[in-house]
Amino acid sequence: MNEIEKRIAELNQLLHDYGYAYYVLDKPVVSDAVYDQLLHELIALEEANPSLIYPDSPTQRVGGAVLKGFQKVTHATPMLSLSNAFNEADLRDFDRKIRQAIGDDFSYVCELKIDGLAIALRYENGVFVQGATRGDGQVGEDITANLKTIRAIPLRLKQPVTIEVRGEAYMPKKSFESLNEARAENGEELFANPRNAAAGSLRQLDPKIAASRQLSTFIYAVGGDGEAYSIDSHGEMLDYLQTLGFPSNREREVCATIDDVLTFIEKWTAMRNDLPYEIDGIVIKVNRYAHQDELGFTAKSPRWAIAYKFPAEEVVTTLLDIDLTVGRTGVITPTAILAPVQVAGTTVGRASLHNEDLIREKDIRIGDTVIIRKAGDIIPEVVGVILEQRPDDSKPYEMPTHCIACDSELIRLEGEVALRCVNPTCPAQIAEGIKHFVSRNAMNIDGLGEKVVEQLLREGYIHNVADLYLLQIEQLVELERMGQKSATNLVEALERSKENSLERLLFGLGIRHVGEKAAKILAEQYETMNALMQAKKEELTAIHEIGEKMADSVVAYFENEEVQLLITRLADVGINMTYKGKKIQVEAGANPFAGKTIVLTGKLEQLTRNEAKAKIEELGGIVTGSVSKKTDLVIAGEDAGSKLDKAQSLGIEIWDENRLIEQLQQ
Ligand code: NAD
Repeated sequence: MNEIEKRIAELNQLLHDYGYAYYVLDKPVVSDAVYDQLLHELIALEEANPSLIYPDSPTQRVGGAVLKGFQKVTHATPMLSLSNAFNEADLRDFDRKIRQAIGDDFSYVCELKIDGLAIALRYENGVFVQGATRGDGQVGEDITANLKTIRAIPLRLKQPVTIEVRGEAYMPKKSFESLNEARAENGEELFANPRNAAAGSLRQLDPKIAASRQLSTFIYAVGGDGEAYSIDSHGEMLDYLQTLGFPSNREREVCATIDDVLTFIEKWTAMRNDLPYEIDGIVIKVNRYAHQDELGFTAKSPRWAIAYKFPAEEVVTTLLDIDLTVGRTGVITPTAILAPVQVAGTTVGRASLHNEDLIREKDIRIGDTVIIRKAGDIIPEVVGVILEQRPDDSKPYEMPTHCIACDSELIRLEGEVALRCVNPTCPAQIAEGIKHFVSRNAMNIDGLGEKVVEQLLREGYIHNVADLYLLQIEQLVELERMGQKSATNLVEALERSKENSLERLLFGLGIRHVGEKAAKILAEQYETMNALMQAKKEELTAIHEIGEKMADSVVAYFENEEVQLLITRLADVGINMTYKGKKIQVEAGANPFAGKTIVLTGKLEQLTRNEAKAKIEELGGIVTGSVSKKTDLVIAGEDAGSKLDKAQSLGIEIWDENRLIEQLQQ
């Protein structure tokens, strides 16, 4: 067997196994995106090598097998799948082929692609008589009793017609969440997604289970010949189905051109999260039945329709290497170096591996085929390994025992997952500390990028952050790629940074556990560096939002003699050590918010979260993200969840939105 034959056989097997887990067991073992990527790899290989298409290849079949225990239903007309489009080019290609076949005078109907399972419903003289799953496309399962429990499915139509319709049964997001919550409480296995939960519910032999699952349905087509109802187009058919009493999804649009289709897709890509049910794409169908007839079908799907799938947030690629870096606090961070791959619209070549535990737990090895996830703006991460594709000669990954920068022994502090270099003179940590000090949210010194900091350290011009302020233009111009102008700019930027308000310096010093927000709170409270350096632990923990861990860290930091020396040096070079912001002067008790720690939860209707937060802060309240014993008040909007429960259990005062507005207006 050559490489291609081997890969085709391997993909057939993998997709067969994944398909079985998904369609038959309703328990997927990989995400849809990963399945689709492998399927498309197989399609491409089969297109280039048609003689290697297996008769039972997953590219040649629809869906899965029929479960024993249910009666079989042979579909009068097959229930097909849809071909997929993943980007604009695929859609333009689809459009071009249609134009070639039927000319330019036609329109599309765009619909939401509901992520559920396909069902066929048969009505005789207006009465619901049978409902079935798609099964393998030809033969499905008779799930009439289960479908009868879905309120959205009419048991009797508004007219006594005999008709078969096709649609999608789905589980609304809310039902899915509460189902999984209840299952978690009972220690039962969770459903991977609403689609599998819906399928799992409808393929139960006991209809009581389906009834308890709060499923719903959208009907999107008639089974068989639409023209038999004297209707000429899909759009009109949807209107007709609605008049019969079927639930059809209203977010549909007739589009004259592929550009209008793209606009519809763009709109729903942005709005999909606002829907109460999951959609995984947009279905685009040629509107007129006469045109559909002209275009016809392939074995698996109609040529007159395509399903555009939203960009994959998970893909598979190869792990080429693991890169290690030493962070500012000595933590060793492993990063995956990947064969570059497109995910959620961007090319990804590196992904986070978090820490040693994750590598060990998932047994991630160099050379593995790994699953990468990138959702929205989140940094890509490695979520797992496809073990079936592991090379025979792979070895478990070993983290180093010594620091890659200073060779001192690495340790694991108790209760921490990270491996750490604790050598305070480790050059990598010093470099990272300086980079942090000059960064935008800290001292904000322009012109001091990573490369320059590293050069300055290498040349011995600086050893710590105070040395930065002694740099001379004559020294700087000697550095690589540093001209007179940039050197002057840099010295000016350093000079300007001396005037920063105290919180920037505090954040820049990199005191453990003191982030930007905590630095601001400390600066606001103590106003001068001197005062903060004298602060006692009890004083610190009395401040809202400053916990034990942070207080300990602040006290320990300022007790260190080297730190004290550094601060004296920073003061000597002229760095401002006072808080310059506006101190909130509202006395506690001046209004119902002053001095109180307040949590906003749930959906607000009259104000946005940010508006509410700004107004409360103006009045001297402190808005925090989580409910704890220190919380004084919780404002609960619509659908407030666990935070409200926690507030109730802690006996914290709770207001609704109206009360908030009332008090804000006083
Ligand atoms: P499909 O989901 O790509 O598209 C066809 C289906 O879309 C139809 O059968 C219908 O049920 C549905 N649909 C929703 N709204 C519709 C509308 N308005 N009009 C027409 N149809 C609409 O194809 P498929 O064959 O049903 O299933 C393939 C899907 O299953 C893929 O998303 C794939 O990733 C997933 N899958 C996943 C795994 C896994 O292991 N995770 C395994 C196998 C399949």
